[in-house]
Amino acid sequence: MKTGIALLAVAASFCLAHPPRAEAGARKKADGRGRVERMDFGKTPDGTPVDLFVLGNGRVTAKVMTYGAILTELDVPDRSGKSADVVLGFDTLEGYLPRHPYFGSTVGRVANRVGGARFSLDGKDYTLAANNGPNTLHGGLKGFDKVVWKAEDASGPAGPAVTFSYLSKDGEEGFPGNLAVAVTYTVTADDALKIDYRATTDKATPVNLTHHSYFNLAGPASGSILGHELMLTAAGYTPGDDGMIPTGAIGPVKGTPLDFTTSTPIGDRIDQLKGDPGGYDHNYVLDPAAKLIHPAARVTEPTTGRVMEVFTTEPGLQFYSGNFLDGSLKGKGGVVYKQHQGLCLEAQHFPDSVHHANFPSTILRPGQTYTQTTIYKFSTR
Ligand code: BGC
Repeated sequence: MKTGIALLAVAASFCLAHPPRAEAGARKKADGRGRVERMDFGKTPDGTPVDLFVLGNGRVTAKVMTYGAILTELDVPDRSGKSADVVLGFDTLEGYLPRHPYFGSTVGRVANRVGGARFSLDGKDYTLAANNGPNTLHGGLKGFDKVVWKAEDASGPAGPAVTFSYLSKDGEEGFPGNLAVAVTYTVTADDALKIDYRATTDKATPVNLTHHSYFNLAGPASGSILGHELMLTAAGYTPGDDGMIPTGAIGPVKGTPLDFTTSTPIGDRIDQLKGDPGGYDHNYVLDPAAKLIHPAARVTEPTTGRVMEVFTTEPGLQFYSGNFLDGSLKGKGGVVYKQHQGLCLEAQHFPDSVHHANFPSTILRPGQTYTQTTIYKFSTR
């Protein structure tokens, strides 16, 4: 986290992040730098309109909406140039309104778990909503994935882009401080989806934002991701208890089914993992755990040749193999999403960081600016 200028920055960034609705509509670019199109995507039950934005560079096309700042679609070519949507989700807004497992979502204020749904900060105790057994998961009952964000066209030299912004009020879901959050999706000229986050606060608060797409590089109707090959630049992980709350230790992956330091099919050792349901749901400690953009993961899908590389500023990466998908959700085109039909690579700080002084801090203070960048870059092989 960089130290910002002053308290005033909170107010200033909030004003910038909340343009009048008339300006929020996207403008078509006729200058060859890509394009952004805006479409109506329905209304939430309280009548709030939801907009969908289409950003493309001629090869990669992303669709993102103001509800949950969710990525609803990501079209990417295979080795023969044939495009397919590589993320799970729904065809309409109505699909996203009931509970769903964070398909494509922007997750916050604190992604992943907070043990015991409480924490203390600067001598004060805070109680959060427990929505995952006794713990808080992904921001609580109504996290950033379930609110309507403001949007503005942010296209520039980096490519077509949309910035979503949201003011999370002091006390929302139990967290302290008014937090002004912005997330920008950009489709770059080199076929990447780049996601930049910023946040400022007027009281000290934990912040840990992430992106929760379920990727299936063969296309979401193609079945399981167990044949995808995965490489993670992580020699360590944070072991947890039965509720996936870290013990505080950093364990080596070497000699365990968690070792993806060389590219390995995800299904090769998945049966060796304990848990109900089994599968990968682990926070990896990236090397180096530095606040510089660094390679975190590479996924290769052998039948289509699609490759996705992940780069991030974050110290951790939650690799989740879609264990809880159980066939009860019908997604795009009526496809039933079964176990392991998508994989998540969630760049973030470590789970339950508020309780572990040895983990990189997630605390944002007034005058500081939270920044996070994660890039999902596509190519073929
Ligand atoms: C968590 C899983 C959880 C999933 C969907 C992941 O980030 O690690 O445990 O089931 O999100 O909620």
